[in-house]
Amino acid sequence: QCVAVCPTGALSEKDETNEVIRALADPFKTVVVQVAPAVRTALGESFGMKPGTLVTGKLAAALRRLEFDYVFDTDFAADLTIMEEASELLDRLTRHLGGDTDVKLPIVTSCCPAWVNHLEKRYPDLLDYPSTARSPMQMFGSIAKNYLAEKISVHRKDMVVVSIMPCVAKKAECARVEFSEDGNPDVDITLTTRELASLIKRFNIDFESLEDEDFDAPLGESTGAAVIFGTTGGVIEAAARTAYEFHTGETLEQVDFDALRGFDGIRSATVDFAGIDIKIGIAHGLDNARVLMEEIRKGTCEFHAIEVMACPGGCIGGGGQPFHHGKEEIIRARQEATYTEDANKVIRKSHENPHIKKLYEEYLGKPLGEKPHRLLHTHYFNRSGKKTK
Ligand code: SF4
Repeated sequence: QCVAVCPTGALSEKDETNEVIRALADPFKTVVVQVAPAVRTALGESFGMKPGTLVTGKLAAALRRLEFDYVFDTDFAADLTIMEEASELLDRLTRHLGGDTDVKLPIVTSCCPAWVNHLEKRYPDLLDYPSTARSPMQMFGSIAKNYLAEKISVHRKDMVVVSIMPCVAKKAECARVEFSEDGNPDVDITLTTRELASLIKRFNIDFESLEDEDFDAPLGESTGAAVIFGTTGGVIEAAARTAYEFHTGETLEQVDFDALRGFDGIRSATVDFAGIDIKIGIAHGLDNARVLMEEIRKGTCEFHAIEVMACPGGCIGGGGQPFHHGKEEIIRARQEATYTEDANKVIRKSHENPHIKKLYEEYLGKPLGEKPHRLLHTHYFNRSGKKTK
């Protein structure tokens, strides 16, 4: 099942719930948990709830019952990803429009590790195209083990960062050496949504009757833009909301980019950035992604930005979610829940998240600056086994 939906990262699904239990029982460890956007749209299914039931508040409450020291949200880091990725998009576009022929366009999203693995194996000649922004999970880990660790006076070796992901490929992503310092990883353990459900059951927590609770501040505060990372088209829509305002200096009144939404395997839309037409491509599923990458290779691609997610529907259909057995109505219900959560948020643009603004003011400086470059960006490797020209 996982092999089918997570083609490059999910060849074996290793249960790591015991590692989490050991960390929680260790009195010398500070255990921090982060939860990806798509998890809240599907976890309820493991407890008999209807597909598309949003369980954000119960999820935070359950994690607290499991006695994590800090219950945070990967959505916070999704807002951070947008700050960096939207800035990178605008930087490349500005240089391109200014006549720089070396700049690589389209910029391709990089938050899906199964996609990144595929790119490194199949398209080693195109490694300059993906955004260098780390995924939200890895940005969170880096901020937790640096900024938060400093703030709460805990050595990074005494902090355990656990991530709850809809994804099996994320287990391999957190093991990449570039996301560690002196052998200590930024994210220590990744559990899938299914593993979290089994942990909640093992601890006899009555999930359905839990009262809603909030995530902890500050790394638990997020916007609607972060929530939609969970669905196909969501990352690029979130980036468009921020890039538009960064570029034009004007308020974006219509936050919903309906043209970027939908379910077709390959979609395209043109977004008007105050007189400049930005052409955007979206692909979900690796077969569809390959169509767009071949166009880049041939030099016929007209897009300025492309979003790729390996799983059908994006992370809501991820290989670590409760099994959907290929039923599209389940994925669609989760997608609906994602857009509902976005619409219900008071703040819906990543750059307006007050905790993100404070993080830049107090610690990071400016997007794409020296510190963000070191802590929030990455590089890619040729894993094809062949030399590129
Ligand atoms: Fe993981 Fe999401 Fe990529 Fe699927 S689309 S492999 S769940 S990051």
